[in-house]
Amino acid sequence: MSVLDGRLTALRGQAREWAADFRAAALELDRDPGLVADHLDLPGVRCLSTFGVPPAFQVDPPTVGPYRFDGTNGLERAVVLEEFAAGDIGMTLAAPGPSMSGVLVAKLGDQEQQEWFFGRMTAAPTWTCFALTEPERGSDASALSTALREEDGELRLTGAKRYVGNAARARYAAVFARTRPGPLGVTAVLLDTEAEGYHAEPLDSLGIRGAQIGAVTLNGVRVDRDRVLGRHLSPARRGIWASLQVFNELRPSVAALALGIAGAAHAYVREHYAGALGEDRDRIEVLGGRIAATRALVHRAAAAVDATGDGYLASAAKARACALAEETTLAACDLLGPAARLSHPLLDKLVRDARGVEFMEGTRNIQHLNLFQGMRSGRVGA
Ligand SMILES: Cc1cc2nc3c(=O)[nH]c(=O)nc-3n(C[C@H](O)[C@H](O)[C@H](O)COP(=O)(O)OP(=O)(O)OC[C@H]3O[C@@H](n4cnc5c(N)ncnc54)[C@H](O)[C@@H]3O)c2cc1C
Repeated sequence: MSVLDGRLTALRGQAREWAADFRAAALELDRDPGLVADHLDLPGVRCLSTFGVPPAFQVDPPTVGPYRFDGTNGLERAVVLEEFAAGDIGMTLAAPGPSMSGVLVAKLGDQEQQEWFFGRMTAAPTWTCFALTEPERGSDASALSTALREEDGELRLTGAKRYVGNAARARYAAVFARTRPGPLGVTAVLLDTEAEGYHAEPLDSLGIRGAQIGAVTLNGVRVDRDRVLGRHLSPARRGIWASLQVFNELRPSVAALALGIAGAAHAYVREHYAGALGEDRDRIEVLGGRIAATRALVHRAAAAVDATGDGYLASAAKARACALAEETTLAACDLLGPAARLSHPLLDKLVRDARGVEFMEGTRNIQHLNLFQGMRSGRVGA
């Protein structure tokens, strides 16, 4: 059963309309992720450039008909991001804006930090990145080794990050680091990427190429003390606990991105194999039903995170939506016959993107482990 009200339904319709522009540019952006700079005037890209800026810092809040929206609520983000990703996940993730860092700053930043960060987001379209993953640590955030140390009276950041979306074009980076061993030693800081010692370069990738994931080296980058996020909070509330809260909030959005890819592949096969009969037609219908069911799960998971902060259902939604994205894109290839990936470049791109989204914000194994914890504790599935 849908949990969407009239406002979210209107928002969804608007996002779908804007996403058509994303689709039109999808293949050229996939070939050259730098081309996002030519698309800053698309309404969807403009929307993303302030999507997630809290109402208190919005200069000109986006509206759809009589409704205001700002992307600070998980269900709203899930609705919009599914439509944008159905247009093109590459453009969605290539767009400037607060993105994942915005969720972190809204949760952990004090008043001044929020003004500093969100003020820059509303002044002009600005790229940001969220640097957590490390070359040897992968999804194990608690083992991160990037160090934030006091040296000659100054805070310095040293380490390496990898697979960070938009790393090389971001002007501001939220970087996770540790001040001492253990979970309470983890913290996040905001950096101006023009600071000396910050270096980022794009990595080549097969899927979601628009996001231009990159490798970052941090060579003694000086960090202003007032850019340490959550400086007004106890270490327990700004360490791993805080990052888990942020990931809980973001997970339904990643599930929605995967769902968007599944929906795009399903629409593609319906359009290009409109005459499907018998088993093939049944197969396409079943895929449509599973997409609708997964959408209901994603919306319920987003609503649950909004209501309680619990991300267990969101883990189920993320795992399910990623599996469905892979299954739907591969089924579409199968249905369109041999050489489908060669003769349908957009479908080939969707297959590659589906594999990429699996690795965003934790793979299926990690989501299953989290879901298991939720079931064991009775927080989900009771
Ligand atoms: C398109 C894209 C965008 C990204 N954007 C960002 C970003 O903006 N910022 C950022 O910091 N990172 C980003 N990432 C990185 C992403 O978060 C990591 O890829 C992810 O955390 C997985 O890490 P890894 O690739 O090193 O794999 P690993 O964590 O090393 O996992 C490798 C394999 O081992 C399995 N595995 C690991 N641990 C366990 C376990 N305990 N039990 C069972 N199986 C296990 C995993 O399921 C997986 O199959 C992005 C990745 C992609 C693909």
